[in-house]
Amino acid sequence: MIVAMQEKATEDQIDAVIDAMVEAGVNVHRTTGATQSILAGVGPTANLDLTKFELLPGVLYVHRISSPYKLAGRVFRPEGTVVEFRNGVKVGGEHVAVMAGPCSIENREQMFETAARVKASGAGFLRGGAFKPRSSPYAFQGMGIPGLKLMREAADAHGLLTVSEVMEISQIEPMLPYIDLFQVGARNMQNFNLLRELGQARKPVLLKRGIAATIEELLLSSEYIMAGGNYDVILCERGIRTYETATRNTMDISAIPVVHKLSHLPIVGDPSHGTGRRDLVGPMARAAVAAGADAILVEVHPNADKAASDAAQTLYLEQFEALMGELKVIATAVGRTL
Ligand code: PEP
Ligand code: MN
Repeated sequence: MIVAMQEKATEDQIDAVIDAMVEAGVNVHRTTGATQSILAGVGPTANLDLTKFELLPGVLYVHRISSPYKLAGRVFRPEGTVVEFRNGVKVGGEHVAVMAGPCSIENREQMFETAARVKASGAGFLRGGAFKPRSSPYAFQGMGIPGLKLMREAADAHGLLTVSEVMEISQIEPMLPYIDLFQVGARNMQNFNLLRELGQARKPVLLKRGIAATIEELLLSSEYIMAGGNYDVILCERGIRTYETATRNTMDISAIPVVHKLSHLPIVGDPSHGTGRRDLVGPMARAAVAAGADAILVEVHPNADKAASDAAQTLYLEQFEALMGELKVIATAVGRTL
């Protein structure tokens, strides 16, 4: 159930409503927007008489949430979520953020050169995988924590934030000092134990859509994180598997406006995994910004062809720089900044 409070509702009135909801046996999640507070009650509400809540002082309206996701739905935060990071960087809202870096962290030179160049062209986040989910157990599996240390150093030297994939619960704690944003990869979108644990972590989470996941399943996975009290979730469209073989995945651009309609959570477009091909990254990045993406996640590498993983879809630094210029024009055209 959703209880929307009146603009002028007092804290005492809000507390009284929360108490009544708890007494009725539901877990209460509160968001305080620019104009009003919204209380989402999650639990057995099917047989509750909602009029009782409508009559409490300070209540504007009450309704049942019919969608299976309760906290990820747009009604919970009608104005949209803006995830705030250090240095004033935000994901969501007017600005389109950019996250760029290699698929895998490989060495110091690679990370420092990438950090300097992506920062210079306007990126806010440095990406790089240290724990890699590879299709083959014999492929490069990532540098682990020493790699994350390198990425942190390079990012700090250039005033960037960091994002990296967490594959299992035991990695959460050791990763905390080095990352600003946990990435949950496509293969782990339905690793519910990991999602639950990230709900307890007080750091934002970038949740990628699974290779065969519907948008509803993506939103339900975000619900696992939010149910734990971590509302700083950013979704990511990274392509899904279809019958098409011309591209590695099919980048579902329509998922971007669909998510914005259904949910308040920001959504990122990842044209690198979305296409698997360097020549298609630019067009799909442009399309994602035009469709309203709140950020773009792109794989770049100083020596793209020699990247330890995902070389074929990785941009050279010069290509990334040119793309940033194009994305700025498109962002302006759709009323955003980049
Ligand atoms: C990645 O970002 O390098 C990655 C492995 O992404 P995905 O989970 O989307 O395949
Ligand atoms: Mn990759």
